[in-house]
Amino acid sequence: MTDCLFCKIVAGDIPSKKVFEDEDHYAFWDIAPKAPVHVLLIPKQHIVNLYQMDDSHQPLVQAMMSKAPSIAKAMGLDEGFRLVLNTGPGGGQEVDHIHAHILGDVRKATWSGF
Ligand code: C5P
Repeated sequence: MTDCLFCKIVAGDIPSKKVFEDEDHYAFWDIAPKAPVHVLLIPKQHIVNLYQMDDSHQPLVQAMMSKAPSIAKAMGLDEGFRLVLNTGPGGGQEVDHIHAHILGDVRKATWSGF
């Protein structure tokens, strides 16, 4: 989607600090980290959010969940991590491209909503 911020990040049109990439997914440091580790994991395909997904999106969203632990481990989060998907304005979603926040060391987090 041409006017989507995260699609532009995937395309390399907007710079990001990549931590993971494969054929279907991309992960990068959040530009304004709310915890000592704060990474966003997204499907490369434009999916708006959990409310807007259809059956064809399910494999990509499920794979996003199953990739999160290995990315967290690679970030050194051996004690665990928090996974958050804000959905819609009522859920605090600001970027309309589905993304999982991977947060580590949340005892030092600065995002009260988390
Ligand atoms: O869940 P929500 O949509 O609110 O999260 C969007 C996230 O995208 C925010 O944590 C924000 O800091 C991050 N962001 C980013 N790079 C941008 C714009 C937003 O990492 N260029």
